[in-house]
Amino acid sequence: MFRRKKAETTYELLVDGNKIQVTRKRIKTLRLKVNTVTKKIRVSCPYRVSEQELIDFVQCKRSWIEKHLSKKIPSAKKELPINYVEGDRIPFRGEEYKLHLRIGAKKTSVRIEDQAMVLASKSELNKEKKEKAIHEFYRTHLKNEIPKLIEKWEPVMKVSVNEFGVKKMKTRWGTCNIRDKRIWLSLELAKKSPELLEYVVVHEMVHLHERLHNQRFKNFMTLFLPNWKELQKQLNGRID
Ligand SMILES: [Zn+2]
Repeated sequence: MFRRKKAETTYELLVDGNKIQVTRKRIKTLRLKVNTVTKKIRVSCPYRVSEQELIDFVQCKRSWIEKHLSKKIPSAKKELPINYVEGDRIPFRGEEYKLHLRIGAKKTSVRIEDQAMVLASKSELNKEKKEKAIHEFYRTHLKNEIPKLIEKWEPVMKVSVNEFGVKKMKTRWGTCNIRDKRIWLSLELAKKSPELLEYVVVHEMVHLHERLHNQRFKNFMTLFLPNWKELQKQLNGRID
């Protein structure tokens, strides 16, 4: 005859005001876990350990538990939506520019004047139209800057880019079509510093040497941009 495996049991226990989820199971030692996101405290406990021993154990770990409960959740830096009203801060080239709306112009235009981004238009524009004008400004900026970077790096890297494009991309900063030697860059890069834009361009151009993000790829990156890891951290997102 085999001994029937004892079923796991889970119950809640209150220790020093903290709700603890206890699971009794076939293990050798007590295990404590704190989920810093859900703030749940869980203890896995061997059958042989008494309730009092369990409570003592949790009390011993009190400062450790407190520390983990107070841990801040690393929130993904979400950009707040911009409403494009006078004085709003508009990101551009790694900085923020105060939006200044100027009515009575001949046509819609966006330009930088000192630390302000001036959006001029004939009459008052709605939010969508203002956003569209600024996105056009971003696009124009990138279409001016990217060719300079490609020209700078082509002879250094000994590759050639046939074509580049700028588009809205939800999840990536850039992509590269190796066969066509075409690179795509995210419109969002207009918000980032020139160093970060250059980093993404170089990354995509390295793909013309190496398709994968392998060691060879990384060696190329280090050769061309020794601080690329730091830049990647700053950019914080996926590059294909
Ligand atoms: Zn890549």
